[in-house]
Amino acid sequence: MPRTTRPLGIGAITILALASVAITPVATAATTTEHKQPVAVGTGGAVASADFDASKAGIAVLKEGGNAVDAAVAVASTLGVTEPFVAGPGGGGFMVIRLASAHRVVTIDGREMCSARCTPQLFLDPKTGQPLPFENARRSGLSVGVPGMVAQWAKAVHRYGKLSFAQDLAPAIRVAERGFTIDRNFRQQELASLPDLQSFTSSRKLFLTPSGNPLPLGSTLRNPDLAQTYRDLAAHGPSYLYDGQLGAEIAQTVQHPPVAPGYHGFYIRHGLMTTKDLSNYVAKVRTPTHVTYRGLDVYGMAPPSSGGITIGEALNILSAFPLASEARAKALFQYLEASRLAFADRGAYIGDADYVAVPRQGLLDPAYARTRSCLIKDHALPYPALPGNPYPPYGGCGATAGRALSDHEGTNTNHITTVDRAGNVVSYTNTIEQLAGSGMTVPGRGFLLNNEMTDFDFAPPTPTTYDPNLPAPGKRPRSSMSPTIVLKNGQLDFAVGSPGGSTIITTVLQILINHVDFGMSLPQAIAAPRVSQRNTPTSVAEPAFYNSSLRRTLERKYGEMFTEETGAVLPLDKWIGNATGIQNLGNGRLQAAAEPVRLGGGSALVVNPGS
Ligand code: GLU
Repeated sequence: MPRTTRPLGIGAITILALASVAITPVATAATTTEHKQPVAVGTGGAVASADFDASKAGIAVLKEGGNAVDAAVAVASTLGVTEPFVAGPGGGGFMVIRLASAHRVVTIDGREMCSARCTPQLFLDPKTGQPLPFENARRSGLSVGVPGMVAQWAKAVHRYGKLSFAQDLAPAIRVAERGFTIDRNFRQQELASLPDLQSFTSSRKLFLTPSGNPLPLGSTLRNPDLAQTYRDLAAHGPSYLYDGQLGAEIAQTVQHPPVAPGYHGFYIRHGLMTTKDLSNYVAKVRTPTHVTYRGLDVYGMAPPSSGGITIGEALNILSAFPLASEARAKALFQYLEASRLAFADRGAYIGDADYVAVPRQGLLDPAYARTRSCLIKDHALPYPALPGNPYPPYGGCGATAGRALSDHEGTNTNHITTVDRAGNVVSYTNTIEQLAGSGMTVPGRGFLLNNEMTDFDFAPPTPTTYDPNLPAPGKRPRSSMSPTIVLKNGQLDFAVGSPGGSTIITTVLQILINHVDFGMSLPQAIAAPRVSQRNTPTSVAEPAFYNSSLRRTLERKYGEMFTEETGAVLPLDKWIGNATGIQNLGNGRLQAAAEPVRLGGGSALVVNPGS
């Protein structure tokens, strides 16, 4: 099985002991808000994100009297400035919100949408009828979906926030004007997306030196274009994008990509999006998914994300096993197999439920899960695991239907978690899909456009196959984003989420079992080495897991197979995910937790620090 050499010096994750052994303690309390830290404890509200400036924006808004929704929008818009290759107003995302006084969990779907001109053949080469190579499909106008982020922010603030949209955008405007320091993570992302940024005149101008090179480490990047875009949105509201000048410029960019002559020779296709598509866009309020696991209420994101259903099904499957009292290798074997089976169902049944009939009730039914958990015995299931039959009365153990499908989602996005003093909670994952998205910056506007439409399956339908995730007019591609909120007796227990494409699902699932079953604190559960099984021949493992005795036991005893994570996009960063979360410690105390090491570590802050 493939295995790469681990570079020296950056493998700090290796100091985190394995899940089965001890976890090196991370800081447990914050005493200052002046530097980036992965864990903070205190009262009055909390924010956790991938970035210090962004988390500070959230805290500033909470201090001004905003609630968790205002804070989440402040953090997300600031991440559009400081993490432009990962997120921003050109993307989309999913927000799960717990409304404290209403005792309700709601979600807002801000997923990007395909043009009314999309067909299932969107990513087929008209000359050959064959799927386009992924990298060509991605760097094209075809991959750009109608951005949902701004509509989602505005809807969230309007319905559930306390401040105005303009107040929530103010911190991001300040950071865009003042600028921020290019750190190692930004520089690595820029290096990894260099061919994309060099291929478009507008991206070159915004993100590279005049000679087309990456910005030097430690330099300051100001983005007055994005500051002005946010100011325009603050002044005119989201209609400035969906029915106005900004929308016209987005459609123009998609239809006529600003290709830099002579660069890299990608065949960059024109896109289909029109201003009519933009004015048709709606951020949709949807009912969350819900399962109970070990007495906790777990809320997640419904389709078009597959996150809530797939995690919910896996948890239902795992309910059959006493993970907490089992040997760790056995429990992890069951985790891998539950994930494998849930992914088989995800591929077969989940797409945009406004377009395809997703058997949501069956997939989340504990009775259905019993027809899946009975398959998990003492040896890894053969590849590929087949989907089950989630239509009542379900049939016997492992009754199967359908075929296994795979995906090629990017792995770079971000997750924001916020809580306010009233107990409102936001768990919010958003993205522009691949690192640097489609590679195209809207000229003079300061942000990149997504390539989210490549989350659709490319292969053409045949008379004998069914695929719930093919492009269609106005359809939203299936996502893996898994913003999650867990309640105990109706109160927040913890909230969590992560980037990572389809590994988001396994990352969130593994954090859940680390915390709920294995008794790790939330920071420990987030820090622990990860392993991801998505109905593939081998499970992908972070180096610290791959090099552990646990991996060898899982191979020897249970026939599991592993591949070491090689850092596909950023070869030096062999991580899976970049999670954030917040734990309710009781008596008004909150513990915010971000990644301690992965991708340079995230930023956890509280309004009033103190243990
Ligand atoms: N496009 C992916 C999804 O919707 C997320 C990409 C990422 O995590 O970078 O699930």
